Amino acid sequence: MSEAHLEYVLGIDIGGTNLVVGAVRRDGGAVIGDHSHPTEPSRGPDAIVSDLEEMSRHTIGLVEASGGHVVGLGVGAPGPLDTARGVVLLTPNLGWVDMPLRDRLAEATGLRTALDNDANCAILGEAWVGAARGARFAIGMTIGTGIGGGIVLDGRLHHGAADCAGEIGHVTIEMNGRRCGCGNYGCLEAYASGPAIAVRAVEQLRLGADSVLDALVDGNHDRVTAQTVFAAAHDGDELAMEVVRDTARYLGTGVANLLNIFNPDLFVIVGGVTQAGDALFEPLQREVARRAFKPAVESCRIVPGALGGLAGVYGAARVFLNAESSAPH
Ligand SMILES: [Zn+2]
Repeated sequence: MSEAHLEYVLGIDIGGTNLVVGAVRRDGGAVIGDHSHPTEPSRGPDAIVSDLEEMSRHTIGLVEASGGHVVGLGVGAPGPLDTARGVVLLTPNLGWVDMPLRDRLAEATGLRTALDNDANCAILGEAWVGAARGARFAIGMTIGTGIGGGIVLDGRLHHGAADCAGEIGHVTIEMNGRRCGCGNYGCLEAYASGPAIAVRAVEQLRLGADSVLDALVDGNHDRVTAQTVFAAAHDGDELAMEVVRDTARYLGTGVANLLNIFNPDLFVIVGGVTQAGDALFEPLQREVARRAFKPAVESCRIVPGALGGLAGVYGAARVFLNAESSAPH
């Protein structure tokens, strides 16, 4: 058995809801000890770093018990970030400002550490061992509370001049559209994130549209989520089906923009909305075909992610391996 076969990299995914830690084998072939813990951001950064330290030590113990060893650590966090300095500049969800996350985790674990954006990590993970494996040029987006994205060429993330590349959720799809959390108007995220999908459904309900959604949430519109909308659409509810079709058209518009700019060979969509399956992907594909250049459409597969909640862990580990391979020796 080769030495590389025993080498593992810790991958840490810091989400607004959960912290996930796992050890990924250097070749991406296996994960040891993936486990998650509620983030509870109101506790502040020190408590979260302390949890991550404990989860890391536990995971390192599992790797060593299996005869392997951990050679480094990659971490994905919400941004914006300064990846060169390893600093999280600002995270509204976590309440962090200028948090030197890379060095804090390196100190806590004694491991060399690399940091990248959480959505970048998820897409890099899919490109490494998931649904975008084998693609030369993969672009992807993560749809959850917000919409993030990543651009991966030949196994490496494209960061741009100031670490802002891949902010796919903030491409403008309506010039005078809805207000987005970023302060701009008409961003894709303001229409097709999980909360935005729920908002559009509730607006229709308030206009008096007839829908099973009312019964699903006992008349409490605050309880409508993207998940309940997709469930109602699955049951054939007209209002919910229309909201899902509109979601697909918004997403398809965003994807078409990216196909015309980058001409990737694969586009991967990650997140809970992909559970809607063909009800989402078929109208999305039609919208892309209507808007993007034919050769760009024909050369690109659009697929759901394959790694589920572990995409960010795989990708974070790969971020470390990429940093290691480009570091001066
Ligand atoms: Zn925005």
